[in-house]
Parts: sequence; structure tokens; C-alpha cells
Amino acid sequence: MRTKLAAGNWKMNGLKASLSELEGMAEAAKGASEVLICPPATLVAAASGAASGDIAIGGQDCHASASGAHTGDVSAGMLKDAGATYVILGHSERRTDHDEHDEDVRAKCEAAWEAGLMVVLCVGESLEEREASNTLDIIGGQLAKSVPDGATGHNLVIAYEPIWAIGTGKVPTTDQIGEVHDFMRARLEKRFGEGVGRSVRLLYGGSVKASNAEEIFAVSNVDGALVGGASLKAADFVPIIEALN
Ligand code: 13P
Repeated sequence: MRTKLAAGNWKMNGLKASLSELEGMAEAAKGASEVLICPPATLVAAASGAASGDIAIGGQDCHASASGAHTGDVSAGMLKDAGATYVILGHSERRTDHDEHDEDVRAKCEAAWEAGLMVVLCVGESLEEREASNTLDIIGGQLAKSVPDGATGHNLVIAYEPIWAIGTGKVPTTDQIGEVHDFMRARLEKRFGEGVGRSVRLLYGGSVKASNAEEIFAVSNVDGALVGGASLKAADFVPIIEALN
């Protein structure tokens, strides 16, 4: 049985005052699903104090090295020390803004595992790739190259985030989501064996809101969501958590 996961990615949003939103999410977070909020790095320590155990806290990126001369970067061990239990890696905004490639994501994933963090590893195709019918090839390649050996249901979550659906209000059809999620499940089972492949949670991300969450959560092999904009306010995120519970 996979525990469903409602994950919020605050991206570069949030000041100390935003942590009051966690209080509004805490009651819903006592339900059957796990709830995760990934605030900016500046808020990880304070958020993990404020979340009082009901809400897991994660980073949005980490460096591939454990420490050293990397000005401005944050290591997986630092996130863990600040109270994080998760880290998002390979988000398309990192891949685009910071020229991150699958090999970088793989090295970061290994560093995160070394530090004892659970990784939410993001994959997804561009609109151009979807229109050229290359979606499954792209996703298969990203999974093969960015997921290190040694994945388990306890250290890895995969988030399928079509780039064209992020922050656009456009959402794939439930058939399109199901096709990718079934494909990812099959790939994970083939590479890591059925037991492990079945235990890794698969999230959908991209314009998830209260109004479409229930429909998306009913799709086969969707174990939750990675939510951007609609995770910033309790009023928007709580109905999504409740749709999953
Ligand atoms: P939106 O929910 O704002 O589309 O963002 C999705 C996302 O990128 C989460 O990581």
C-alpha cells in the first residue's frame, strides 16, 4: 500500500509570515495522506518547527557535494539538519534556469540519499516534445538517466510534471496522465523489480487545483500531487489534501 502524498512546492515564494498557512493546513494533514511543504531554503528550519510533525518539510534543491566552496548553494545534509525530510530534485525550472541535466539530478539524488532525505524527482516533457509524440521517450530517458541505482519506496517519489502544464492552467487529459503514470510504473518495476517498482509513489504536478484534484487522483497510478501555486494558501491547499484523503 502506497501512502498518498499531497506535496506543495512554494518555489521562490514565502516570508516568515507565510508560515501561518501551515497552521491552517495542520488539521487536514492529520488525515490518511501524507502532507509535504517545500518552502524556500530560508524557511526550512522555521517551517519544520512550525509544522509540529503533522506536515513534512522539504527543500527544493540541493548541491551534489556534502560541503565545500560552493557559494550560495545548500547541501542535503544542511537541509536535513534544518529539519527537512524531503528534497525536490530535477524540477523543470531548475533544469531550465540552472541548466541542470539528468546527470546532475542523479548526482544530487545520490547526495540526498547519503544525507537520508527522501527525493521527489521531477520529470516531464515540453509541449514541443508532446506534439512530436515523444513524451514517453523523454520520460523514459529522464527516469533511466536521473534515477540512480538503489531506489526504494522509502527514498524516492517521482513527480510527472509536463512543462506546458506548470503555472499555465492547462492540464493533460486524465488519459494522458494515466498513460504516463502507467508507463513510469512499468519502467520502475522493470528496473528495480516488482516490489520496489510498486512501492515508489508517483505524483502528478502542473496546474492542480481544488476543482480538478479529485478527477486527477482517480487516475490509475496517481498517488498524489506536487502542487505549486495552489499550495501557498491553506484555503487552496486544504481542499486538495481532502480530495486525496
Ligand atoms: P503549478 O501548480 O503552479 O502549476 O506548479 C506546479 C509545479 O511546478 C510544482 O512543482
